[in-house]
This record gives sequence, structure tokens and C-alpha cells, in this order.
Amino acid sequence: MSKKTILNNNSTDPNKILPMTYKWARAHYKNGVNNNWTPEEVNMQKDLETWKNPAGLSDDERRLIMWNMGFFSTAESLTANNIVLAIYRHITNPECRQYLLRQAYEEAVHTDAFIYCCDTLGFDPDEVYNMYMTIPSIKAKDDFVVDMTKSIFDINFKTDSTENIQKFVHDLVGYYIIMEGIFFYAGFVMMLSFLRQNRMVGVAEQFQYILRDESVHLAFGADLINEIVDENPEIWTAEFKSIITENIKKSVDLEVAYAKDCLPRGIMGLNADAIAEYVKYIADRRLERIHLPKVYGADNPFPWMSEMTDLRKEKNFFETRVTEYKKGGTLEWD
Ligand code: FE
Ligand code: MN
Repeated sequence: MSKKTILNNNSTDPNKILPMTYKWARAHYKNGVNNNWTPEEVNMQKDLETWKNPAGLSDDERRLIMWNMGFFSTAESLTANNIVLAIYRHITNPECRQYLLRQAYEEAVHTDAFIYCCDTLGFDPDEVYNMYMTIPSIKAKDDFVVDMTKSIFDINFKTDSTENIQKFVHDLVGYYIIMEGIFFYAGFVMMLSFLRQNRMVGVAEQFQYILRDESVHLAFGADLINEIVDENPEIWTAEFKSIITENIKKSVDLEVAYAKDCLPRGIMGLNADAIAEYVKYIADRRLERIHLPKVYGADNPFPWMSEMTDLRKEKNFFETRVTEYKKGGTLEWD
């Protein structure tokens, strides 16, 4: 039997999922299903009262919420489009495709979360959905990802040479490691700080669900990258590794600039310097996850963030409706 490979495998039948070669892809699919949620299950009533009350939030707090809405709302559709239009056609392995379909669905749920927040809180959609053009530090992040992931968007692109497989992996790093693994994380820290203070709990909880999904997307992306590198070791040259590392370092600089812009003064025990340290800490983790040496040696200033990723609903002290998503189709209600 010829060995199955992810790229350029003429013997792969995309419709024949069993027997499976890549068990990790299946495991990520199951993890995604176990995180099932929909935005409307989160009650926004208290958020609405806080948002409408002039004394409910400071100007800096409002700005921080709006900016994160602005960045995430368009970044989610960018990610969904990348999966469907650029990545899917090159990945013919059926268990990986099953995961990509699940991920595309989850990105649609995330897009829905921001529609729901705008609808329930009365945010101006023109303001939120134009921030990727009007706020320079948001635009810089989006431009960086769009720029570094141009090759696989080209309709004529093929993974048919060492150079092209490098381009493909380069772009996967842009989508998975940088966009989903670094550019989302300053925002996650800021929004989940509200959750820790039991304020704007509805919006913050939507971000918490998104964080849990994104941590699976990132894990799938890293496993996909590592598998392609294992199967095509000739691509993993010293020069290529240094290009990837440099891209990750540039993305850290952009994320730190975004945090400084979002948070010009400290609030809620948060300041831009601590967030910068956190972004460097997670960038080191991302580098190690794809077998590259870490760069920063930063400490984690927010150890509570890892709990936020696994936190089961019933452990939350605030009141919400749905408590448990472990079994799809049998949601329990309080
Ligand atoms: Fe997402
Ligand atoms: Mn994602």
C-alpha cells in the first residue's frame, strides 16, 4: 500500500474517509463538536443595561470593547474565506477536510456572534465593520495577514514543487499561527478581563466561546503544518525557518502596537506592557508548537487565561442559560 500524504497524493480519494491516516484531524473534529454553542444562548440583557448607562463603563472601556468588536468582526470572515477559498482545495485528505468543514462552520458562528452583539447592544454596524480600514493598528494586522497569504489565494497556485510547498506552509503559518494564534490573543485577554470582573458578561462570554474554538483551530493548524513538514522534510531549511520566525516576530510587533493603541491607559488591572509580555509569551509557545526555537523567553502575566480556555460553563459563577455542551443535541437548561 502506498503511503498516504497530505499534499500531492494522487491516490487520495476525498470521499473515502475510512480507514483514517491522520487520527489528530479526527480528534480536533470531535473537540470542535464538544464545544458546540450558538450566540443567542448567551443573555445580553445586563450588558445592554450597562452599555446604555452613561456611568456603566468608562470611555476607555467602551473604546476597548468597540475596537475588539472592530478587529474580530472582520477577521472572522477573513478566516472563513481563507479556509473555503484557499486552503480546502489543496487539502484532499478526507479527515482533514472534515475538520476544515467544521472549522468553516465555527467561523460562521463567530461571525454570527458579532452580528448578535451589534443587534442586541445597538452598536453602529458602519462603525464596527469599517474599523479594519479606519483604525490604523487594526488595518495593519489585516493587511499583514492578507499580504503574507497571497500565494495560495492565486487560483493557479499548485503545491507541485519544494518552493510551492514552502509557500503553502508559509501561508498556513499566516492563517493559523499568526491570525488565529497571535492576533486574536491581546483581544482575548482584554475581553476576558471583563468576565473576571463580572461586567459585560454577555459579550465577554461570546469571546470566551470563541477562544475555546480558536484554540482548537490553532491546534489543528499546527498539526497540519507539522505533518506537511514531516512528509516534505526538504522544505524545512534554515533559511525557510528563519523567514517563518521573522514573520512571527513582525506579527508580535503589530499585536503589541494594537494593544498600546487599544489601551493607552491602564484599566481593570491591565496595561499594554503586560499584554505585550503576554503576546511574547504565547508567540514563544506557538514557535515551539511548530518545532522552532522560542525567541522571547517571556513570562505569562495572565496565568488565568489557560483556565479560560477549558472552563466549563457550570463552573461560572454568573447566571447563564446553557450549562453544558458536551453532548451535542442534549443541551441542559437551567
Ligand atoms: Fe473564529
Ligand atoms: Mn478560527
